[in-house]
Amino acid sequence: MKRVSFVAGNWKMNTTRSTAIELARAVVRGAVSGVEIGVAPPFVYLDAVGAALAGSAVKLGAQDVYTEKSGAFTGEISTDMLKDLGVSFVLAGHSERRHVLGEKPDLVSHKARTIYAAGLTLILCVGETLAQRDANETFTVVRTQLGELGTWVTDPQRLVIAYEPVWAIGTGRNATDAQAQEAHAFIRQTLAKTYSPDLADHVRIQYGGSLKPDNANALLAQADVDGGLIGGASLKAESFLAIATAAVAAAR
Ligand code: PEP
Repeated sequence: MKRVSFVAGNWKMNTTRSTAIELARAVVRGAVSGVEIGVAPPFVYLDAVGAALAGSAVKLGAQDVYTEKSGAFTGEISTDMLKDLGVSFVLAGHSERRHVLGEKPDLVSHKARTIYAAGLTLILCVGETLAQRDANETFTVVRTQLGELGTWVTDPQRLVIAYEPVWAIGTGRNATDAQAQEAHAFIRQTLAKTYSPDLADHVRIQYGGSLKPDNANALLAQADVDGGLIGGASLKAESFLAIATAAVAAAR
């Protein structure tokens, strides 16, 4: 089946208010059709970036969210707050949150469910460390992380899986086309068994990990790769849009 690729920029803890607005405007100016494009700025710039995206097809995303609706949770942000600002997609389980900030599978699972239940699009990030790949544990790790979804997903349009091998994130070392396709096909088969072949067929599976204009054509052309989650290369409109353009070309 033909899925519309989704190319999303994860700006992480980068940009200033003015560079965030500038970057968002440049993405809007250069946005191509035939691919879904989104950006996830730091929380504090969501409002300003949302205003810069207004009237365009570029989606606003958040890098994280808390599991509760409101209350005494100092420093946290709720799905209602994100929706108030026009956010349409939210990440859960990014490797930096798992491995740097120490988020455990239960919390990732709770966050994923909270995002989906709020009517937002969930991007669940999964992927193995280098030690796990070397120990041939990639499929086991990814299958376990997909288990964080539970059985509550019914709308495949609001579920996106980002396959991001930890060893490829921010390292300049991307997965090979074959490694990416193998993992993506495994994810789709796992979703087909857990849910249904039809749901699995409709879910977008993004590749993430040192995706750049010079490797995007080949990676995004893989049969089960439906766009990308992009860190470093999303901080420059030119490279981010070149990847979006590669996604359109790959879909032809
Ligand atoms: C990411 O953080 O999701 C990511 C893929 O980063 P980078 O593109 O910089 O490897």
